[in-house]
Amino acid sequence: MFASRVMLAYETRCAVCALGHRELLDAAHIIPDGDPRGLPVVPNGLALCKIHHAAYDQNILGIRPDYIIEIHHRLLDELDGPMLLHGLQEHHARPLMQLPHRHADQPDRSRLEERYAQFRAA
Ligand SMILES: [Zn+2]
Repeated sequence: MFASRVMLAYETRCAVCALGHRELLDAAHIIPDGDPRGLPVVPNGLALCKIHHAAYDQNILGIRPDYIIEIHHRLLDELDGPMLLHGLQEHHARPLMQLPHRHADQPDRSRLEERYAQFRAA
């Protein structure tokens, strides 16, 4: 099953923030599962906590093909509170904190590139 394979590959930690609580983690798709390339395979997956999953799906958070995180510019200058500051803004321009050890399980760079283009256009 997709979710359990993704959790195993990421050692049950969020790729962005390394949060390690299974009940707060999702197996997210890079290319959505309605798309022909959106297969339920580990290289099309990311273990993400609930907030980072929603932020990725809403193009608030982008992941470059070189595994660097970007936060959308419209949120970067905003003053809000600790979740925005520590949960999102501080990850901008930093690498993913958790990646699979096996090369074959790591996020597919061509899929990331396709999704990152959507983030850039948002
Ligand atoms: Zn997270």
